[in-house]
Amino acid sequence: MTGQNRSSAVMQQRSEPHEIVSIAEAKARGLRWYFTGIPCVNGHIAKRSLSNRGCRACVEMRRAAKDQANPARARERNVRRYHKDVTASREKVRLARERHAEKRRAYDRERYADPDRKAAQKQQALRWARENPGKRNAIVAARRSWIKRATPRWLTQEDRRAIAVIYRKAASYGPGVMEVDHIVPLRGRNVCGLHVPGNLRIIPAQVNRLKSNLFSEALA
Ligand SMILES: [Zn+2]
Repeated sequence: MTGQNRSSAVMQQRSEPHEIVSIAEAKARGLRWYFTGIPCVNGHIAKRSLSNRGCRACVEMRRAAKDQANPARARERNVRRYHKDVTASREKVRLARERHAEKRRAYDRERYADPDRKAAQKQQALRWARENPGKRNAIVAARRSWIKRATPRWLTQEDRRAIAVIYRKAASYGPGVMEVDHIVPLRGRNVCGLHVPGNLRIIPAQVNRLKSNLFSEALA
């Protein structure tokens, strides 16, 4: 299934009504669509346009096919639309992300479970790090500085030793197996966690990947 098919299927699912809305009722309610519940010639159970009685799913299907045939033009149009009102576009993206958060997590889980894909992503991340040493170093430095900032002054020698033990234990599983994770993230949206023993735990690297960015592996 391609991304376009998936997104149009999702769109259909979300926007199709469950109750019949006759042409007369649609007109009375000032709608631009009506809904019969009867499949179109292509089998869509979808809204119809009041203006030309056309199946909206068919329109969407034809548009998706056209976009697929000419992806460059589709991208150009989408970029143009996005920039017409960037603030509104960003809000739209944010709402869509929120709406599909659960679906996206499921998709990510499936994606990351695929060993070929995982290996390819790792290679890509490593290549990126090699080709962009400046950016890579900036990210490493930034992460170090977050950790430094999240380390309270009251941390005792004993705490520091405990932290070192946790990191050594994670490393003992071999490279890329387990990772030290901040339970409350150092850069959370609402609260920021501390770099203290109580906020550290060892979790599978794969799980951590879902939480953070792809480059961590290449930077480790
Ligand atoms: Zn149709």
